[in-house]
Formats: sequence, C-alpha cells, structure tokens
Amino acid sequence: MACVEYALYMPSLEEFVGVLQKGLEDNFADVQVSVVDCPDLTKEPFTFPVKGICGKTRIVGVGGVPYLLPLVNKKKVYDLNKIAKEIKLPGAFILGAGAGPFQTLGFNSEFMPVVQTESEHKPPVNGSYFACINPKHGGCLLQKYSEKYHDFGCALLADLFASEGQPGKVIEVKAKRRTGKLNFITCMRQTLEKHYGDKPVGMGGTFILQKGKVKTHVMPPEFSSCPLNSEEELNRWLHFFEMKAPLICQTVFVSKDPGFDLRLEHTHFFSHHGEGGHYHYDTTPEVVEYLGYLSPAEFLYRIDQPEETHSFGRD
Ligand SMILES: [Zn+2]
Repeated sequence: MACVEYALYMPSLEEFVGVLQKGLEDNFADVQVSVVDCPDLTKEPFTFPVKGICGKTRIVGVGGVPYLLPLVNKKKVYDLNKIAKEIKLPGAFILGAGAGPFQTLGFNSEFMPVVQTESEHKPPVNGSYFACINPKHGGCLLQKYSEKYHDFGCALLADLFASEGQPGKVIEVKAKRRTGKLNFITCMRQTLEKHYGDKPVGMGGTFILQKGKVKTHVMPPEFSSCPLNSEEELNRWLHFFEMKAPLICQTVFVSKDPGFDLRLEHTHFFSHHGEGGHYHYDTTPEVVEYLGYLSPAEFLYRIDQPEETHSFGRD
C-alpha cells in the first residue's frame, strides 16, 4: 500500500502556546493556553491504554472520503497494527477519527480508534469505541469495540494521531464561552494556518467538552445504494444529533494540506453516557467549556491516497 512521509514544521511548544492563545481569544471569552505535563490518560474520563501522547508524534491520513462517496469501495479495509508498522512505529499508540471496520461489524459506523498497537514487547490493546444507529429507535448506540470484537481493523478513511504514548510536555488549552463563529478546532487550525502559512504544522490529542452540547452526525448502518454526489445528498443520508457534555473527543488537524488530499481536521468523540459520533461544533456558545491536551506532530504520513477525488463531505 502506498505510504508517503512528509516532515511537518515543528516550532517549540512555547511558541505554539503564544500563537494559539492569541487566536483563541478572538473566538472565546476566556482562554488559557500553557505547557503542562500530560495528565495520566489511563485515568477517568480518558481511560486510554497509555499514559500520554508524547514521543515520535505522527499524523496519519488513511484512505479518504472518495472511498465512501459517491459509492462505497468495500476493498478499502485497513489494520491499525499494520498502519503502525507502515509509519515506522510498531507499538504506536493511535487515536483519531474514522469509519468503523464494516468488514468485522457487518455494518457501517463512526469509529473512535484508541489503540496501543502490537510490538515485540507487548500485546496490542484495543480501547476503541464505535457509534452506530440503533435500528430499534433510530438513536445513537455507542459501544466499546473490544466487548465483542478482537481485531484491529478500520475502514475507508481515518485521520490518526500516533505517538509512543509516553508521558511528557503537552499543550493544555482551556477555552470557555464562545464569542466567535468558529468551532474549537477550526479556530486553532485557522490560527495556525494564518501564522505559519506555507509551513504546515499538525497537531493531535484529546479534549473534553466539559459543559454544553455539540452538533454531531452518525453514519447509517447501510452504505448508500444510490450515489451521493453532493453535500446536500450526503446530509440527507447522515443522521444528525445534539449530544451533551461530558464528551471525550479525539482530534487530528493540519494547518495546511501540502498536497496529499488531506482532511484538514477531523474530530470524533465518545462518552461514558452512551453518546458518541463526529464533532461538528458546539451549539451552546454561552456556556461551552473545552479542556484539551495537544501534541504537535513531527511527521505526516499519507497511506492509500485516493487517485480520484472530490471536495464534498469534508465537514
Ligand atoms: Zn468523522
């Protein structure tokens, strides 16, 4: 499978702090960005299989929306243990946002990969979640993947943040009460794009929606049998919901696409109250509170980039 490596621009954490603080202040009433020791991510509410998101950081773009739309390409299935080897980091801790492994599940879903991949020293741990539509009432059904399934698959498209899963210094972002139009991640991404221009920087990690609600979507269990050729047709196919805090989000974003047909930002979330899905934006600007832990990525890897592409379905 084709895999391309690209070195991202890596300013210091302190420089990122200054840039993000200023950018977020244009969009939120109360902002505090700082360098901190990564909190222990094995603890609540994260319950990840590793302590941190530091060490040999990478962003990985796998597949893409063209494998889902206009029609699904069912040959596009992937394995997170193999992806870790492709990016020269066997044993990587991987989190991110993608499509669930229909090849195992037998249906389509939103996927929240949280995986310590296999290495010589340790067996792999799958802490992933998936969200699908409950056929009984049309609501969201969030499940821990390892409760029923034992593989490390994913499918069609995934935007991943990989690291050694080590503790270390990360960027803590606190933002409360939204005063601007941009969602939490778009605000940071556009800030970085403005500041760094043609030098792409990338980040990934986790954030908690502590207060408020978000607009989210969950894909239906059946792939569309008629081609979805526009944002409007796609939106008629997706199921939209409003979901409430606390939500544990995992995010990956790149300030600028260096020419790999990337999704510039992608955020999925799970919770401990049965809700999960794809994050669009918060719907409660006056009360919303975000707390995030982010790490910049040293490298970008592009795996199985679609040859034929289009521009819709990237929201
Ligand atoms: Zn998504």
